Amino acid sequence: MKCMNCGGTHDVTDFYQGEDYIILCGNCRQKLAMGQLGKVGRPSMGTTKKVSLTLSEDDWNWFDEQAKGNRSQFVRYLIGQEQSPEGRWSNYASLGYAILAGKELGYTDEQITDLVRAINSNFDMKTVDEAKKIYTDSLY
Ligand SMILES: [Zn+2]
Repeated sequence: MKCMNCGGTHDVTDFYQGEDYIILCGNCRQKLAMGQLGKVGRPSMGTTKKVSLTLSEDDWNWFDEQAKGNRSQFVRYLIGQEQSPEGRWSNYASLGYAILAGKELGYTDEQITDLVRAINSNFDMKTVDEAKKIYTDSLY
């Protein structure tokens, strides 16, 4: 890791200051703390574009709770999740929900096994979006 201000490698630490991801060496951190560093440039994480986002109060509360003080970092995380097939949709997690539901409804182990098998075979036949549409178009 290299200091983004001077390029030095001594005692380098990365941290967040507000929404800015910063990598600085010990010397430059001291300068920053004393206000002698001015605005630190961003590292080569990508191109920064301003986004304006409208959400309900509830959604903002949820968002800020999840973001834990760093909205940019959280949005980057969500984008990463959305782009990875495993992150976007976890077959194992949905089977876990099915098992929980089956137990709650008093299904026998045999019935739960059948349910899990049936769901498993449908994973291969329908896409996530198709399955979503079947649910939202249904009366259940
Ligand atoms: Zn430095």
